[in-house]
Amino acid sequence: MSTPYRDVLNKIRLAFPQPVSDSIHDSYFVHSIMRALDQVDGLKTQLPILGSIVPGDFEEARRTTLPPRMSSVEAVTSDLVGHLQGMTIVGHPRAQQNVIPPPTIPSLIGVLLSSLHNANVVWDEYSRLVALAEVEAAGITARLVGYDPEQASGVFTFGGTGTSLYGVKIGLEKACPQAMQKGVPEDVVVIVSEAGHYCARSITGWLGIGVDNLITIPTTAENEMDLGRLEEAARTALAGGKKIAAIIATLGTTDAFGLDDLKGIVTLRDNLTEEFQLAYRPHVHADAVIGWAWSVFNHYDFERNPLGFRPRTLRALAGACRRIRHLSLADSVGVDFHKTGFAPYISSLVLFKDCEDLRRVTRLPEEMPYLYHFGEHRPGMYTLEASRAGSGPLAALANYRLFGEQGLQVLLGHMVEMTQILREHLEGYEGTTVLNRDNFGTVTLFRAYPLGIDTFSIKGQEFDDPAHRDTLLTHNAYNRAIFQYVYSEAMAGRGVLISSTDCYRHTRYGEPIYALKSYILSPFVDEGDVEVVVEKIQEAREKVA
Ligand SMILES: *Cc1c(COP(=O)(O)O)cnc(C)c1O
Repeated sequence: MSTPYRDVLNKIRLAFPQPVSDSIHDSYFVHSIMRALDQVDGLKTQLPILGSIVPGDFEEARRTTLPPRMSSVEAVTSDLVGHLQGMTIVGHPRAQQNVIPPPTIPSLIGVLLSSLHNANVVWDEYSRLVALAEVEAAGITARLVGYDPEQASGVFTFGGTGTSLYGVKIGLEKACPQAMQKGVPEDVVVIVSEAGHYCARSITGWLGIGVDNLITIPTTAENEMDLGRLEEAARTALAGGKKIAAIIATLGTTDAFGLDDLKGIVTLRDNLTEEFQLAYRPHVHADAVIGWAWSVFNHYDFERNPLGFRPRTLRALAGACRRIRHLSLADSVGVDFHKTGFAPYISSLVLFKDCEDLRRVTRLPEEMPYLYHFGEHRPGMYTLEASRAGSGPLAALANYRLFGEQGLQVLLGHMVEMTQILREHLEGYEGTTVLNRDNFGTVTLFRAYPLGIDTFSIKGQEFDDPAHRDTLLTHNAYNRAIFQYVYSEAMAGRGVLISSTDCYRHTRYGEPIYALKSYILSPFVDEGDVEVVVEKIQEAREKVA
């Protein structure tokens, strides 16, 4: 019987994958995806962006209305593709902007599959063996960072921020076992380094601990937490009767890839726990959302070097491993597969060394009457989220299976190798200087200086000596101009897209140091793509007065 609503309904049904095998409709589905990919491909040029940058009219966007009638898959596809206009092609070798990786094909298929059947890993009833993928990915990661996989446990959550939130929340429950029920007493602090991610502020704010109770510890020249200052701060807090909910150690800071001395932090924590006879052990959370991936080198034979990396690369890898291999000393670790794991957003895992820790936030079954009548795997008993997509776990597992340990070693090793080549070039010119020379990731912070400036001494002078304040600020502006030049050249198809940071750290006298930044996270980067960075900077130095 044909009624107006039936006619529309039939169109609607075609817009869904079919519930019962229908290979003709499957072809239509695949073709629809192909059409989208084709259109995206049509936006590609030699430039590291899709199409061109069209400024978004956010005022106009606010006035968007719901269309009165149904559209078609085809029309919606074109509309969606249009929204990709101007996006950076993060896998392009001439895009070296930030810690955003290009996702692999298997990880994208993982997202598609999970979304296709709408897996929710809150409970195995809602996700079956997709829930298993979460446990598998967590198990692989636990082993990788050196946890006992029998004892460790973890869940995927809403980003790196979520991983630290879980760590701090569990720490809070350890320090104040009543917090979940009664709320947070005022005498709680959280400690992080000045180079740690701003999410520590969000977390202390949102957990009710209060941003004022976040203690930030200055960092050394290597961008790692100053242990002496940490000890001072922790002692002051404890002596003042405060409780330490968590110490967040950052392993791989966002701008510079600084790595905190986790071993030193844990030792200090243990000593203070004993000395102050604390009834709890302050929780140490490792924010390793960037650095975790270097764990694949924990067992690499740096002597024999079977993959044939260059000596400078080996040194950089070993330098990072020196800190990363202690990850298992942390009570919990945060991992972002959407950063150094080549998965699409969001794929973040928080792991606890002791699975009992998660019990501290477990709800009672009576509180969740619609869940858990059967099944045996119930992470939703303790996760903050109710719905959790299976896409993050499947994407992570996809990449583990695809790369294996050696694949990840090659991928990271290559990018570190390219980073080292970039630094050699930058240091080979007298007009440029690398700022984070002792940080061994794939991010390079550097500054350019006008002709006639002695780059050997200027860095130290600007950093230490308030008499150089004006020079520092002048050179901040100079580097901004260099960045503008390099950026517009890249947009014109000449050169490379790099980025910058307004404050990679403060000088001793409190001024922000502006830095140019190259973040290499594309497997397609080769030597020519890092040489062009240096060429463009040199060119900019001639153009910028
Ligand atoms: C990116 C980052 C975060 C936040 O992660 P999101 O996934 O963006 O929420 C936290 N810590 C560090 C060190 C980071 O680099």
